Amino acid sequence: MKSLSERMTLYMDAGFPIIYIETFEEDKAERAIVRASSNREILEWNVRGLFYSKSDEKREGISLLEALNNFANPAAMDNEKFARRFSLQRRVLLIKDAQELLDVPEITAQLKFLSEQIISGELPDANIVIVAPRANVPKALEHYVTMLTVDYLSTAEIRQIILDFCEKQDISQPLDDFLRELSLAFKGLPEFEIVNILALALADNGEIGRADLKLIHDQKKQLVQKSGIMEMVTVKEKLSDIGGLENLKNWLQAKAKVLKNIDKAQEYGVDLPKGVLIAGLPGCGKSLNAKAAAALFDVPLLRMDMGRLMGKYVGESEANMRHAIALAEAISPCVLWIDELEKAFAGIGGGGGGNEVTTRLFGTFLTWMQEKDGLAFVVATANNITHLPPELLRKGRFDEIFYVGLPSPAERAKIFQIHIGRRRPKDLPAIDIAKLAKATEGYSGADIEGVVKDAIESAFTQDLPSVTTDTILHAIHNTASLSVIMKEQIEKMSKEYKDRHFKNASV
Ligand code: ATP
Repeated sequence: MKSLSERMTLYMDAGFPIIYIETFEEDKAERAIVRASSNREILEWNVRGLFYSKSDEKREGISLLEALNNFANPAAMDNEKFARRFSLQRRVLLIKDAQELLDVPEITAQLKFLSEQIISGELPDANIVIVAPRANVPKALEHYVTMLTVDYLSTAEIRQIILDFCEKQDISQPLDDFLRELSLAFKGLPEFEIVNILALALADNGEIGRADLKLIHDQKKQLVQKSGIMEMVTVKEKLSDIGGLENLKNWLQAKAKVLKNIDKAQEYGVDLPKGVLIAGLPGCGKSLNAKAAAALFDVPLLRMDMGRLMGKYVGESEANMRHAIALAEAISPCVLWIDELEKAFAGIGGGGGGNEVTTRLFGTFLTWMQEKDGLAFVVATANNITHLPPELLRKGRFDEIFYVGLPSPAERAKIFQIHIGRRRPKDLPAIDIAKLAKATEGYSGADIEGVVKDAIESAFTQDLPSVTTDTILHAIHNTASLSVIMKEQIEKMSKEYKDRHFKNASV
């Protein structure tokens, strides 16, 4: 991916009037702006006034509106010096501290006016750059604004921050393996946060050790939470907790081998894994697979909430999507789990009434999937693929598309074993698993888990010494299976999967 200043240069050269950088790291953004502005003068407005980069000139206390009024019409100023001072020709206007001010109609109107002048060429070689911690673009400016986000630190940069910290504190630097692990663990956090954590760890017991990885992990979890669009899921599930779905499990195991030996694999010529789409009936283990994949790859699991991605401001949803993607890439290697994919992208491209925002959001996502070269492995899960746009299902977006159907008798037996074994291991040998599997034709994995839970609770409330085959059969009798509840949908979906030649997750 291009750096922030490179991306900014591209947009500036192409005459995009307003560039909006969403970040908490003002310093970093400012360095990029200086680089992208090449030798043009930067005029910075912040809450203290207006400051000029190439001279000591300043106008302390001037409001943003007053400054913009002057920029909009410098010729109206009574003397030439003033007019020159407020000309934006071949200059960059940097606006800080203005997040709330952008909602003021007069300010929006002047920014719009200046943008028009930049586009028409009346104001040659001028750009406006807004730096703010959150995206807030008023509708009237949407057309003129390009959103950019600050780059996250690379593993090598983080490594250097740790080494610098150790040198400054006069402590010995961590051993190579641990340094690598530490650098990976810090990925996604800004520099000040990394230094804070290191200081905290050092103050705690005088050294930076393995125990501090938990601190980093907790901090990162908070950071992801704060983004408001993703959460970092704590994973307890393992591949062995999944009954059946052998094809999918084998496939994931092969990807794990690639991801864990990525350098060697790429040297050998193996393509970088992109991700997998797991479609299928509810309660049949899709989420379970997303979680088990993260455990198998030994990386964090980020769950993207498509509902929360849709923001109230214009352009906010796309900015959220880019933000989520950037964060996932920053934290990578990771698994990015996109749950209920169909909810976000249903109705696009099929001639249906998919709205503009969703269509653009979808575009951003597709481009990323197509071009992605990082180690954020996507696991997308969907219940109903009939609503998904065909572009998404085309080969090349995902490495593979699997469907999970209702479990076979052998799979049901394994699911029973897992859930009884987890809760009542002592009772397991005496239970006739084959009989239970036979009695649960049309039940999903979640149904089976429900049956086992009900049976155990009922045995406990009846003061029975153990859970038996009969107690479970009784619970089965009292539970309606998924195939009964969703008969029509199941038939429709099974046909769809067959027609589209999706891979079956089961053998
Ligand atoms: P939904 O679309 O409703 O989210 P899902 O396919 O993602 O459904 P899961 O959340 O993975 O379903 O499954 C629900 C629960 O059912 C799991 O927590 C697990 O306990 C149990 N389960 C489902 N399938 C299996 C399976 N193959 N092996 C073991 N347990 C299973």
